[in-house]
Amino acid sequence: MENKIKILDESVSNIIAAGEVVENPAAMIKEFIENSLDAKATSIKIYIKNSGRYVKIVDNGIGMTKNDLFLCIERHATSKISNKDDIFNLSTYGFRGEALASIAAVSKLKISSKIGTEKVGNEISIYGGKIRNSKEVSKNMGTEIEVKDLFYNTPVRLKFLKSKQTEYGKIKDVAFKEALSNYNVSFELHIDEKRVLFTTGNGIENTILELLGKNILKNLKKFKYGYLGNMDILKNSKSYIFTFFNKRYAKSLLVEKAVLEGYYTKLIKGKFPVAIIFYEISPNKIDVNIHPSKKIVKFENEKEVFKDIKTAVEEAIGTNEEEMLPNVI
Ligand code: ADP
Ligand code: MG
Repeated sequence: MENKIKILDESVSNIIAAGEVVENPAAMIKEFIENSLDAKATSIKIYIKNSGRYVKIVDNGIGMTKNDLFLCIERHATSKISNKDDIFNLSTYGFRGEALASIAAVSKLKISSKIGTEKVGNEISIYGGKIRNSKEVSKNMGTEIEVKDLFYNTPVRLKFLKSKQTEYGKIKDVAFKEALSNYNVSFELHIDEKRVLFTTGNGIENTILELLGKNILKNLKKFKYGYLGNMDILKNSKSYIFTFFNKRYAKSLLVEKAVLEGYYTKLIKGKFPVAIIFYEISPNKIDVNIHPSKKIVKFENEKEVFKDIKTAVEEAIGTNEEEMLPNVI
């Protein structure tokens, strides 16, 4: 009898993998941004239309050669790790080599890129995972990726896209957090031809000013692990508590709770502080990478992290107001 079990064709397995990696346009944009950061870009410009089904991202990073352009859309193709030890010693955001292959499988994709030492760049177009066209192009050093018609060949995924406003909201949130944590990189986000986010990449305090405004900046106090807002800028939700671990955004209920407990006696019921936490921890004591969407963070020693942050917040909140940041403008 013929075997029932078959190994799936790569074009099918890439579409399945795409379900994990590119849940929605915002998740795809996060992958692109992190690729640009891994390529040492200092400027990242993103243009969105059509609920995020159209995305163009332009960076000034190290770029790719013609050969690398053909390889980057293959599954498990990565320049970031080469053996299993590297997985536990990462200095890059990416390492799975899955994002571009997945995105290529479910969209009409065009990638152009040029490395510093070459005169011309190259461009490839891929529709539904199949290479359509490649040619030389003139461009500056860096990479430009254009996605058209995301999910055009996966009608079910397309149906699961939320309203335009919801998708745009998620995209803005991703760009905001990447811009805040990568405060030495300039970010631009344009949605339907309107620029909705801009940072110059001139350091943390200037980036806070650009993203959160003067009123928040002037009411922040520097502390051991970032910045804490005073009682003049209390919020109605926890959404102004930003937590970055080794400079990557990840939500942590544990750390949120530590911050809130640190403020405890000063907080009014139903009000929450502004806090921007940059916590550095040895990479082998934190796990941010295991889940593909990288949203879950786990610590080896939860009690230690909790106490560390709570104590630092308590100390900062207890000290006098003279240490407030000077007004920037
Ligand atoms: P990963 O980031 O896990 O390596 P990706 O599928 O996201 O996997 O990207 C595959 C490869 O393509 C990367 O390892 C990198 O070499 C190259 N690449 C992707 N985006 C860029 C970019 N913006 N600039 C330069 N190289 C890039
Ligand atoms: Mg990547």
